[in-house]
Amino acid sequence: MRWDREVDVLVFGAGMGGMTAALIAAHEGLDVLLCEKTDQVGGTTSTSAGTVWIPGSSQAKRDGVPDKIDDARRFLEAEIGSRALLQREAYLAAGPAALDYLEARSDVKFTAPPRHPDYHSNQPGRALAGRALVPLPFDGRLLGRDFERVRPPIAPFMVLGGMMVGKDDIPVLLKPFASARSFVAAARLLLRHAADRVRYPRGARLVMGNALVGRLFYSLKTKNVPMAFDARLVELVKGSDGIEGAVVDIGDKRQTIRARRGVVLATGGFAPSEKLRAEFMGELPIAHSNAFGGATGDGFVAARAAGADIDAKHTSPAFYFPSSVHGDTVYPHILLDRAKPGLIAVNSEGRRFVNESDSYHDFAEAMLRTNVAAPSIPAWLICDRSFIRDYGIGLVHPGAGTRTIHRYVADGYLKRAGTLMELAQQIGVDGKNLLRTVQEHNRYAESGVDEAFGKGGTEYNQFNGDPANKPNPCLRPIAEPPFFAVAVYPSTMGTCVGLATDGDARVLDERGEAIKGLYAVGNDMASLFRGVYVGPGITLGPALVFAYRAVMHMAKT
Ligand SMILES: Cc1cc2nc3c(=O)[nH]c(=O)nc-3n(C[C@H](O)[C@H](O)[C@H](O)COP(=O)(O)OP(=O)(O)OC[C@H]3O[C@@H](n4cnc5c(N)ncnc54)[C@H](O)[C@@H]3O)c2cc1C
Repeated sequence: MRWDREVDVLVFGAGMGGMTAALIAAHEGLDVLLCEKTDQVGGTTSTSAGTVWIPGSSQAKRDGVPDKIDDARRFLEAEIGSRALLQREAYLAAGPAALDYLEARSDVKFTAPPRHPDYHSNQPGRALAGRALVPLPFDGRLLGRDFERVRPPIAPFMVLGGMMVGKDDIPVLLKPFASARSFVAAARLLLRHAADRVRYPRGARLVMGNALVGRLFYSLKTKNVPMAFDARLVELVKGSDGIEGAVVDIGDKRQTIRARRGVVLATGGFAPSEKLRAEFMGELPIAHSNAFGGATGDGFVAARAAGADIDAKHTSPAFYFPSSVHGDTVYPHILLDRAKPGLIAVNSEGRRFVNESDSYHDFAEAMLRTNVAAPSIPAWLICDRSFIRDYGIGLVHPGAGTRTIHRYVADGYLKRAGTLMELAQQIGVDGKNLLRTVQEHNRYAESGVDEAFGKGGTEYNQFNGDPANKPNPCLRPIAEPPFFAVAVYPSTMGTCVGLATDGDARVLDERGEAIKGLYAVGNDMASLFRGVYVGPGITLGPALVFAYRAVMHMAKT
């Protein structure tokens, strides 16, 4: 084999998994090259909330919400039984060390919010805080001209021409005059944004996944880690003893690059690939994806061709959102509307089928599960005018005025009617049932107990509700016409099916043996949680920790 270039570690994909692996490899003194097929860093990571689920961290302890690894172990046992046991132990053991490693050596820094519950918060060992960490906001101006290289979040996650809004920013921006503190905070945000817009095409105060990507990218740049853009993995080069390197298209030049220690695949899984979705999720009626369009399964396909085993034994082959669709925008209903009081979801029979305040994945799974008996794709989110005023629905922001509402009604995103019977007719659901369903829900709202589905019944439900709403933060009557409906569909946020790996992220062949020189992290690796969505941050957490483990393994070999 004639090699055009040689490195120790060759990484494909500049999302969470790949950037972390490249950064740690450089800190371990390894000669690394990070190849990204587009001209921007970030992939799906840049559009995410940036949360990582890593039990027992020193960050959680420092921030006053300590978490115990033993509790997390019990929780995982309750959630996924004995599956992925070895990998799970490797994850639990390395998680805190990986976070400390990055915090000590780079700008990749996290904090533990005071409350951020696991999604099944009634399970033994669950945490209400301390396990889910969020990245600290990042000042994109530090990147100078390279700020343009950070993939922006999807447009609906920004306001005022490119201003990112974190969860904590929402109350101050909605009610700037509520207190002197709100006023100062809102004014600061707006002035900062106005100043940014003079120099940059969007606001440079980054939060959530964009902050995480900004921090990783800045750390890579500070450490002078070589990165190649427009650099696409074409195929892996296999020798008698494992993977020796890869064929890479860089710009319009094809190159063969030798990787002395190993190749790390971090190309983001295959959520947007219709072909691979058909192969692994074919029977499921899912037509939409929220993942970055460039995550087309390249790493997965290349590894498979080199003899890698696929782990497809998951409770669910992918993780989902319920999403509404507006033109090209697939808008995920994550936490801003479904759990709030005064909203229900109904199927084509006009009946509820799920606890609307459960996690997005559980909600979408319920759509898929119940769709067989009574069509619930799309399902309809139903609310009244006061709900939109207070919380917004999907793309329609809280406090939206008549003109905005009219615009969304005119283009069909929002359905509006003076009575529930008329609304039912418009959306094609059984009117009498819808009326009965709303009446029943309104009774539950008065008593505070949802006898049908338990909306607001867990700490996780309540976390996303409205604490000011009594007696149940997730229930209030739907009563003030006009009434509204938005259609939601299940969409893939990321794949669980992926390459089979061991506790050091080494890719396994069909005999269960590690393929020398080949590692997979992020969504190229089969989900550690085997298709159960246990809490916030369960794809980015493993991406970080297994990138660390993979590089530490390579550093030893
Ligand atoms: C709205 C939203 C919110 C989310 N929030 C969270 C959250 O808070 N916490 C969480 O854990 N998960 C979250 N997720 C899921 C999470 O974002 C993804 O699972 C995660 O970003 C995947 O990371 P990755 O490194 O595997 O891939 P990505 O971040 O997608 O990066 C993959 C990169 O590989 C590149 N690439 C592809 N093919 C090639 C090739 N052939 N050669 C070179 N490069 C290639 C791509 O261009 C891309 O830049 C969210 C997802 C969405 C859509």
